[in-house]
Amino acid sequence: MVHRIFLLITLSSFDKSDVLNTELPVSAESATTANVMIARVALDMPLDRLFDYLALDADADDIGRRVEVPFGNRRLIGVLVALADHSGLPMESLKPLHAIDRGSPPLPADLLVLARFVCDYYHHAFGAVLAMMLPPALRRTATPARTRKALPMLAYRLTAIGRAEAERVPVRFTARKRLAERMLAAEIPWASCSASDKAVLRDWLEHAWIEPISQVSQMPPQETMPALTDEQETVVAALRAAGNRFNAFLLHGVTGSGKTEVYLRWVADVLSRGQQVLVLVPEIHLTPQLTERFTRRFPERRLISLHSNLAAGERRIAWLEALAGQADIVLGTRLAIFTPLPRLGLIIVDEEHDNAYKQMEGMRYSARDVAVWRARERGVPVLLGSATPALESWRNAKEGRYHLLGLSKRAHAEAVLPKVRLIDSRTDRPKLGLTSVLLTALAERLQRGEQSLVFINRRGYAPSMLCNGCGHVFSCSRCSAHLVLHRSRQGYRLVCHHCGLIARPPEACPECGNLDLRPAGQGTQRIEETLAEQFPTARILRIDRDTAARKGAFAAMREQVEAREVDIMVGTQIVAKGHDFPHLTLVGVIGADQALVSPDFRASERLFAQLMQVAGRAGRAQHPGEVLIQTQYPRHPLYQALQRHDYPGFAEAALRERRGADFPPYASQALLRAEAREEEAALGFLLAAREAGLALQTGVVLFDPVAALMARVANRYRMQLLVQASARQRLQQFLGHWLPQLEALPARGVKWSLDVDPMDY
Ligand code: ADP
Ligand code: ZN
Repeated sequence: MVHRIFLLITLSSFDKSDVLNTELPVSAESATTANVMIARVALDMPLDRLFDYLALDADADDIGRRVEVPFGNRRLIGVLVALADHSGLPMESLKPLHAIDRGSPPLPADLLVLARFVCDYYHHAFGAVLAMMLPPALRRTATPARTRKALPMLAYRLTAIGRAEAERVPVRFTARKRLAERMLAAEIPWASCSASDKAVLRDWLEHAWIEPISQVSQMPPQETMPALTDEQETVVAALRAAGNRFNAFLLHGVTGSGKTEVYLRWVADVLSRGQQVLVLVPEIHLTPQLTERFTRRFPERRLISLHSNLAAGERRIAWLEALAGQADIVLGTRLAIFTPLPRLGLIIVDEEHDNAYKQMEGMRYSARDVAVWRARERGVPVLLGSATPALESWRNAKEGRYHLLGLSKRAHAEAVLPKVRLIDSRTDRPKLGLTSVLLTALAERLQRGEQSLVFINRRGYAPSMLCNGCGHVFSCSRCSAHLVLHRSRQGYRLVCHHCGLIARPPEACPECGNLDLRPAGQGTQRIEETLAEQFPTARILRIDRDTAARKGAFAAMREQVEAREVDIMVGTQIVAKGHDFPHLTLVGVIGADQALVSPDFRASERLFAQLMQVAGRAGRAQHPGEVLIQTQYPRHPLYQALQRHDYPGFAEAALRERRGADFPPYASQALLRAEAREEEAALGFLLAAREAGLALQTGVVLFDPVAALMARVANRYRMQLLVQASARQRLQQFLGHWLPQLEALPARGVKWSLDVDPMDY
């Protein structure tokens, strides 16, 4: 008899470079004991290896399933990634699996391949990557209490099986029968159920008799589609012509040009072929708006949204629906890129330039890059959209790796791009942050009953507090950062934005005893206060992380603005991203210059994107918009390009600079970060790492270890070592050799991690 080993991934040596997606028939000689199956399980551990367990009843269909295994005296959840008939360990030392979860479909093979790819590229452990792909509720061993609490507060309806079962509930179960009849008649909101009904519903949910329906999907009226503009028509035609296979498109469309309409048209095609669509957005706040547009367009399709703000149970259910192929459209933030989608037909990454696509902790992946790999691997198209593409993407398009498509005009016939004016703050000196030109413009809008937005990317009252006598600035005792002055109902507070430390401002300067302590500079709170003094009748709304933190707060504020209950918004970048405010005609920008002098070479790219975004909020519909930027450098090329709405001009100049300086995208980088209580410990580790790297002689550049831009956070010193190579391939080869050496280095008290393609320094 020929035994077959089903291998998804070559495991014996666990060679990282091989990813096999095939069944390998193995001849009888290599098989040892007949009928003994060994399950190779990936566990959430920093070790890049698999663990063997006995699994007498496992078969090929179980590959990709979650399993519960004994580990020491604990029970862990892992993923069964392969079966074998022998183990490197003695058979008698292997323990049996506790359970295989056959209640839900296994992770599809392509997702395991993606996990392997991602863990190779970012040099992260395979099991840890797989665990990250699962919703948190499925990473833990099931405790009934937890699943109970997590049931979402939605409406439920019967599934096809449920319908059949509900009709068969015997009359003698009076309560159940009544509930079944209610559900046969209509979907029922969770909130309307009694405690005993809820208990029954939980049970039915476990048996898949019922399914949740999200509130938005409760049958909104089908909207009428607008006729496409000529530009949109051309873009949609190009997308359709490229067919149903891998192609990467970069859609560069100015704000308000109707990119979303283009997405919707293409999505319609893909859905009608019976495929699933994955749509990524950078911000949780953006999901409701886009969800609404998609559900209005496709009311008969099942849409789920996935982001980290969902209750554990909601996320689990949504994810399982995607896995089971029931969801047609999955809309979510970066973590959604790992959603299992058996019928995947298209990936869209909206606002692809946004930094939020880069995960800044744990495995520091870029969801945009993963999207492109995933699309290539699956042979489906991927569409990246932005008004200000990332320079990396722009270069890819210019060099022909992505197809470049453009929308240069706003979609509404009457809507024109806003006029950008630069206010020279050296001549028009701002008082408490506001120039007289800006104040006059605000007054005009108030008079005309139009809305304004004052954009300042600093929350709190003032970025710092200083002593007017000796100039002492209050800093965090645990971080290398100034404390930010905040105002609350209890009075003023000094807050560290890095470690969360909160202190009461002292009465006197600790250096010189002076009592005259003053706020220095402006934050959103102080601008709000100044505006309230200047315009006592104006209705002012502050929108920043402090006011929008509560779940639902942001949506409520948006509604207020839409209902014209607000005259002036004061906001940080969270207002800038993709929200439509039809009555907004003025945007004032304060404090943008800071980014021009930042040591981070990406700061100007970010500033340009942010200002284009925020400028794009003005004059979306019939009202022409105006953008006033207060700056000391009105002649700066960045502002000049902005004034012309000239992204390509900005991008070409920025790319030339990057090329001259040998910066990404003309070089590939990885950053080895180390932090420790003692600066010497972190430095010592990095110096040893550098030695080891130099010894490999691979032609990459290893810079000297330096302090991070935030050199100390919560009393831990942060140092870093930059590695750079002319090509990605070369960098990867080097990292592959270097990492095992790093793991062998003594690193007492040092926490280190590797960041491939770092975005912050
Ligand atoms: P973007 O995402 O490019 O900033 P949107 O897709 O949000 O732009 O579109 C901006 C506005 O133009 C929206 O109000 C949208 O409904 C409208 N719009 C888009 N396409 C058309 C069209 N072909 N005809 C009329 N209005 C359109
Ligand atoms: Zn601090």
